Amino acid sequence: MLEIKNNLEAIGLRLRQACASAGRDPSSVRLLAVSKTFPAQAVAQAHAAGQVDFGENYIQEGVDKIRQLAHLPLVWHCIGPIQSNKTRLVAEHFDWVHSIDRPKIAHRLSEQRSPSCAPLQVCIQVNVDGGPTKAGVAPEQVAELARQIATLPGLRLRGIMSIPEPAADFASALGVHQRARAVYESLKAQGFDLDTLSLGMSADLEAAVHAGSTMVRVGSAIFGARSARA
Ligand SMILES: *Cc1c(COP(=O)(O)O)cnc(C)c1O
Repeated sequence: MLEIKNNLEAIGLRLRQACASAGRDPSSVRLLAVSKTFPAQAVAQAHAAGQVDFGENYIQEGVDKIRQLAHLPLVWHCIGPIQSNKTRLVAEHFDWVHSIDRPKIAHRLSEQRSPSCAPLQVCIQVNVDGGPTKAGVAPEQVAELARQIATLPGLRLRGIMSIPEPAADFASALGVHQRARAVYESLKAQGFDLDTLSLGMSADLEAAVHAGSTMVRVGSAIFGARSARA
């Protein structure tokens, strides 16, 4: 209980220091607590310490926690790969999706989002490393997917997300995050009204803040090391 609270305080301090060193306002970076593999009770503890936004990778696991914690005013972000047979669960239960990587998934999510709910807030996942096996859209294909998403009534495009390979040092992490920033700026220059650059995890959040991240996704530094799956 105390550990999660202390870890959240430590992350808050890292974020404030990174913002100070990057000359940014700390309120411009939102903390997403990645609770994958941890029980609903851990999420409730983080919420008791003031955390509101939570990220899940595995759809069914996330939906189970969303149901268990429906009495709490939490904001749920889907940050993992989405198979087309899982889009309905995502559309019905999550508030945000960071991992849109193809038109089919975007269309299904929009169709399956209830008109009585706010549109799903979405980011396009961009593959900035160029790794062929990695999820995400190539930078040169992002604008076309953004144009399609802009026509879908159940979705509201907020920005882009990327999950680069772990970097050896600050300079290389900064370089790869700056590639994501460039894709984001180019979309804005083309007229897309965006405010979210979802970049940075436990190990590289300082570099991400320097590159302009507005949402860092932090798991192990809040909840501890993960044993299973991830
Ligand atoms: C697991 C995960 C994170 C958090 O990673 P940590 O290194 O534990 O902070 C962030 N983003 C995505 C997409 C993840 O899958």
